[in-house]
Amino acid sequence: MSNRAGRRAVAAQRRSLLRKAPEKLRCLACERVGQQMTKEHIWPRWIIERANAGGDQFKWIGGSRATPNKAVVPLCYDCNQRLGTELEGPVSEAFRDVEAGHGLSGRQCALLVKWLWKFEGLFWCWEHPHGRYSDLWSVTERTTQDAAIESIADGLSLGIGLIHANEREDVWPVGVDTPLGEQGVCVAGVFSRVAIAVSYSDLTGVFVGGLDFQPLSRDFIRSDEKSFFPATRFPTSGAAIDFMKTAGPIAADLHERAMLSARTHRFIHPAPRRRVELPH
Ligand SMILES: [Zn+2]
Repeated sequence: MSNRAGRRAVAAQRRSLLRKAPEKLRCLACERVGQQMTKEHIWPRWIIERANAGGDQFKWIGGSRATPNKAVVPLCYDCNQRLGTELEGPVSEAFRDVEAGHGLSGRQCALLVKWLWKFEGLFWCWEHPHGRYSDLWSVTERTTQDAAIESIADGLSLGIGLIHANEREDVWPVGVDTPLGEQGVCVAGVFSRVAIAVSYSDLTGVFVGGLDFQPLSRDFIRSDEKSFFPATRFPTSGAAIDFMKTAGPIAADLHERAMLSARTHRFIHPAPRRRVELPH
């Protein structure tokens, strides 16, 4: 195909998508349109492999079910690359370290927080195809840069409880246990041998007995020294899931109320980001 024919084909495809599914033209993570698009697995391949969960079914956006290998969202090529090298790669190392009992550095704790926020962000944007994720940061900015986490690090904590054994041979859980809301800070889930939650430090009470919490700070999240050594808290993955399924929604609700009374970072607007609006 000549360049010209190629361009015509791309333009025709865009026009068709604009009519049928405009949301597929916008990158979910940076909200730009007109970029080269890719499909990104919402559950990254490395965690699916780590949990050996590829063939299993998981609850997916909107209550439908899909195998993790098929659960994909539209991301631009740039975001796909950046999220892969700056987030998923280092987070997979953090998982290896913490599951092996080698502990986490402050920088690794921050990466895990951003990683949880990535799920929240992509879910939120998927559920709100015409909404703005935040006037301050796109999902990519919030999860690959430090400005967002630094702005609230002093009041934030990361909680982890490790799991001793799984019930189902070789298959570990992968899933988020906090419902989607507007608060965007508290995210909890169980991934492989790790039950994990990010929470405001004064709202961690609901996780007591399941997770050990490490308070974060602007200095701490720049540290490369291993300093957080979470304990094994759950005898089985089932026990971890039961605990997180109860605690996660309560914690999210507490954050939702805190946001309504205090206006957290997500809805403070010093300089709204601009973007191209699609017809809908
Ligand atoms: Zn993008």
